[in-house]
Amino acid sequence: MPLDDVRVPALDRGFLFGDALYEVLRVKNGRPIFWEEHHERLQSGLDAVQMRVDMPEIERQMQKLCAASVNKTGMIYLHITRGVGPRKHAFAIDATPNVLIFIQPLDAEDIRRKQQNGVSVILQPDLRWKRPDIKSSNLLPNCLAVNESVRAQASEAILVSERGQLTEGACSNLFLVIDEQIVTPPLEQRILGGVTRLKLIEMARRQGYDIIERTIDQMEIFTADEVFLTSTSIDVMPVVKIQEQLVNGGHPGKMTKTLAQAFARMMESVTGLSKAA
Ligand code: PMP
Repeated sequence: MPLDDVRVPALDRGFLFGDALYEVLRVKNGRPIFWEEHHERLQSGLDAVQMRVDMPEIERQMQKLCAASVNKTGMIYLHITRGVGPRKHAFAIDATPNVLIFIQPLDAEDIRRKQQNGVSVILQPDLRWKRPDIKSSNLLPNCLAVNESVRAQASEAILVSERGQLTEGACSNLFLVIDEQIVTPPLEQRILGGVTRLKLIEMARRQGYDIIERTIDQMEIFTADEVFLTSTSIDVMPVVKIQEQLVNGGHPGKMTKTLAQAFARMMESVTGLSKAA
């Protein structure tokens, strides 16, 4: 149905409490890709918040939407709320979830252009709850941080924990290149386990790169040789400016470019033959 015709019940807990989880998947050749990885993350989030869904039915609906959509390349947005209930904090364990799935087109040319030029970022305090590994629709801290970055004419906010450590972007994962080693914050519940992060790490390790998952002090970003971000909507994105400071003279770094090209080749070969296909 047309997205404008979709109605959300006023007592839907996703609407009232942000009691909802979501996933964003890439669609290629009319098929969702990396569904197994998205599904695993989604399922562990659902288990953590005690939400039960009919996953085979969600998979069927996703396939149906992909088949019917004119966007054979794009992004699936999958949103699962706990459903309708009295406006009380405690929830019914047997509530019927509401599910929203839609496809958005993807501007591949815009991504390529940004990858060539690189993007600017700012640092912002990480104001999120203590379980960012759960992909909850409670994104107010992320929205505030990204909004600050837009005001500063940057395109992402890198979040800094109370301990002064870098966690991730407000909507992406973070990597630094320091002395030819790729460094990224570890999972340990304080960041979202990005599917792109996972795929990039697997690919880079297969190709013999050193990837170190460790805590990163916020000052390290200013002296890193290269910085890049990963997410489903941007793949591998070079960062060329942090606040007022240029990274690598304001140009995408050599290692970042090599990794971005290798990742693009890997994506070319993905057919979408995942569990949902
Ligand atoms: N971290 C956060 C906070 C995000 O919102 C996203 C994008 N959903 C990511 C990381 C990247 O995750 P993925 O690679 O699965 O898109």
